[in-house]
Amino acid sequence: MRFTFWGVRGSIPAPGKSTVKYGGNTSCIEIFIKDRNQVVIFDAGTGIRELGNSLMTRYKPGTLSCNIFLTHTHWDHVQGFPFFTPAFIGGNSFNVYGPVTSSINDGNQKPYLSLKDLFIEQMRYQYFPVKLDEMKAESKFTEIKEGHYEIDGLKIQTKTLNHPVLCMGYRLSVNGIDDLVYCTDSEPYVNYFMNNSSEMPDDLFDPLFYQTLKSKLSDPIGIEKLSLAMQENLNLVNFCRGARALIYDSQYKKNEYPTKINWGHSRIDDAVSIACRAEVETLFLFHHDPTRSDSQIEEMIDYARELAASRFGNKTINIVAAEEGQSFEL
Ligand SMILES: [Zn+2]
Ligand SMILES: [Zn+2]
Repeated sequence: MRFTFWGVRGSIPAPGKSTVKYGGNTSCIEIFIKDRNQVVIFDAGTGIRELGNSLMTRYKPGTLSCNIFLTHTHWDHVQGFPFFTPAFIGGNSFNVYGPVTSSINDGNQKPYLSLKDLFIEQMRYQYFPVKLDEMKAESKFTEIKEGHYEIDGLKIQTKTLNHPVLCMGYRLSVNGIDDLVYCTDSEPYVNYFMNNSSEMPDDLFDPLFYQTLKSKLSDPIGIEKLSLAMQENLNLVNFCRGARALIYDSQYKKNEYPTKINWGHSRIDDAVSIACRAEVETLFLFHHDPTRSDSQIEEMIDYARELAASRFGNKTINIVAAEEGQSFEL
């Protein structure tokens, strides 16, 4: 498979002179499986607009059919869809998969809005001049949960990530040896237990950190919840284990995190820690903060490489920053 970054930025598009190299569009990745002529898309941030233009040149009108997997429905992961030209072409078809947050107030756990309703809502006339049902391609919307799926010959595993809305990480494999893991909008599962975010240690898995948090809790239910949270962090490592490519949320530097706690994102340190523990081949730093300039991203790559070698003794892992327009073969 070949994957291409069409959008690598987090939160909001960030065009301008300082982001020319790594790009300003929000999350969108294309996976192309050549021998099947199959296109898979991760997220529909603003990067999907240029991907759509590319697909228009590669596929005759009415011949494109593909699966779009959404991590979640925050703006930076869906707002490109109304500008995705192939969706306006009759005969094309799209299966859109994504998680939907359930209501916590009703016992039936019914979604507030279905996945399709969320897309209809985004294109309401107050926000956008064209309605979803005016897009001529056939679109089907399917809600997914954590689990294993087999879709059009793709092996897909999903993992719930810690984010302010239900958010899924994806592990995709075509032939069993080309695993690509995409985990963005993911905060370590310990934010609820820290009174002060500066308590976060350099290494998320530092046993002393867990012991310190535990010593501050008095009730057994709290201790049980802390233990489950730490287990979820380990589950995430296992989810990423041995991947050829891990595309991971690296929005913040260590010193920025204290003011961004509960916003649902990771520090570079957490991305490196998970990637090294999971023994992945290449870590792609992803979901760059909109304020991050190209030169600052380069500093982050150096920092991450140094961290992998010095803290984890890992000198073989490749660490790069996701860059708009770049493609990689697996
Ligand atoms: Zn995001
Ligand atoms: Zn988000």
